[in-house]
Amino acid sequence: MNILHVSIECYPIAKVGGLADVVGALPKYQNSLGHNAGVIIPFHDNKFTEEAELIKIHKGTLQLGEDLHSYSIKKLVNPDLGFIVYMVHIPRLLDRTMVYGHPDEIERFIAFQKAVLDWISLEKNIPDIVHCHDHHTGLIPFMMTHADQYTALRNIPTIFTIHNAQYQGQLSYDKLYYLPQFDHKKIGLLDWDHRINPLATGVKNAWKVTTVSPNYMKELQERANGLERLLRDESKKCVGILNGIDTETWNPETDPMLIKNYKLSTLVSGRKANKKWLCDNFDLSIEKPLFAFIGRLVNEKGADLLAEIIAESLSNTDINILILGSGNQQIEEKLRSLRERFIDRYHVHIGYDEQLSHIIYSGADFLLMPSRVEPCGLNQMYALRYGTIPIVRRTGGLKDTVVDIGDGGFGICHDQALVWDVCYSIKRAIALFDDQSAYKRLQRQIMKIDHSWHRSAQEYLDLYNSLIQLK
Ligand code: ADP
Repeated sequence: MNILHVSIECYPIAKVGGLADVVGALPKYQNSLGHNAGVIIPFHDNKFTEEAELIKIHKGTLQLGEDLHSYSIKKLVNPDLGFIVYMVHIPRLLDRTMVYGHPDEIERFIAFQKAVLDWISLEKNIPDIVHCHDHHTGLIPFMMTHADQYTALRNIPTIFTIHNAQYQGQLSYDKLYYLPQFDHKKIGLLDWDHRINPLATGVKNAWKVTTVSPNYMKELQERANGLERLLRDESKKCVGILNGIDTETWNPETDPMLIKNYKLSTLVSGRKANKKWLCDNFDLSIEKPLFAFIGRLVNEKGADLLAEIIAESLSNTDINILILGSGNQQIEEKLRSLRERFIDRYHVHIGYDEQLSHIIYSGADFLLMPSRVEPCGLNQMYALRYGTIPIVRRTGGLKDTVVDIGDGGFGICHDQALVWDVCYSIKRAIALFDDQSAYKRLQRQIMKIDHSWHRSAQEYLDLYNSLIQLK
């Protein structure tokens, strides 16, 4: 089967969060099952593309409102990532360093989607399945079915995966002229709440809709930032498939980003070397249990609670806390200002640092995830694989992947995104840490859990097959 994934992010080319990790792993596992999966993303102007070897395989021109843009499709030759990567290069519009946060985001995403469809509709070898990821690609299923220009693509099944329903990419109708000609009787298929809503459009028009965990699918039918009714109405074509992790990239035995590699039999010494590096570099003490947080500093991740959690826990217990993240400026500022108060037990690194994140997964004792919303969550799965015990709020995919030690499981769970609930979990974690033999037993247990993509990659393939049979 020829599968084309359409996404804005893809690890290791351009990563902001979990979307990149999924799109950078799922096709590799689909290929290992005998298929031909590729990814198409924008050409981002960054270190990766600067060093990569690319060949131009197609040139074209696309209309965006009154503007004509030349574009080209480039294919990645080197390095080989285990799947084919195509990039849409639109000079001055797409080739930027930052993935998100540009004032002309609407134009960028629509131009990207149109270029993808222009190109594949002219290709001899058109894909059997087009798999779109998040709202940036949500107009594709509509355009493939209803735009006059893309009739060649009408019968290709489309899958739309919601990685995060908080972001929907809404635009007003004065931008409608950016879209290609279509039958105006179909305009309702673009609409949600009197605006063009690309996330809703993806849900309405894709042949199947998936979310990144079964529990998140259930939650979206109750709370989906305004789309809950739509998700209930469309529930028959919706399914939750749990994300996996790329166990080749995320392997403590071979991960080149670690200070010291380790496996089950060398877990204690390996993890100690990574913890030591963290403690030396962030002025912490190696004897105390190290609690870490990695992620976007936004309310969705419960990051607004962190300052209070840190102040409360460090006032009442003898632990270390290390934070890695960036996002909301007020949260960043609050986290920075706490440093002075707890100089030898707390550190925060504001920014995005892939290597540091790997070292934290391999050196921290506990990983905090007090998320309000967590569609799947990959951090807890990386933590498990590296032997760090996750402390999570029971929400979204966290509920699907972490079982509390009190229920015979291997993590620490709480129900509320509240400071006292997280602090109580921290106290439970300290009690666990104090019993070193139980703690080490648990570390060995979690490192053996299989969260690789094998099972989920097959679930997606089964879904594609069910659609191909409908054609
Ligand atoms: P998100 O909602 O941000 O996509 P996920 O849990 O799905 O959350 O994925 C987050 C991914 O981004 C993980 O690979 C995590 O390690 C990484 N990550 C998040 N913030 C940072 C950061 N500041 N530095 C390095 N890696 C980060």
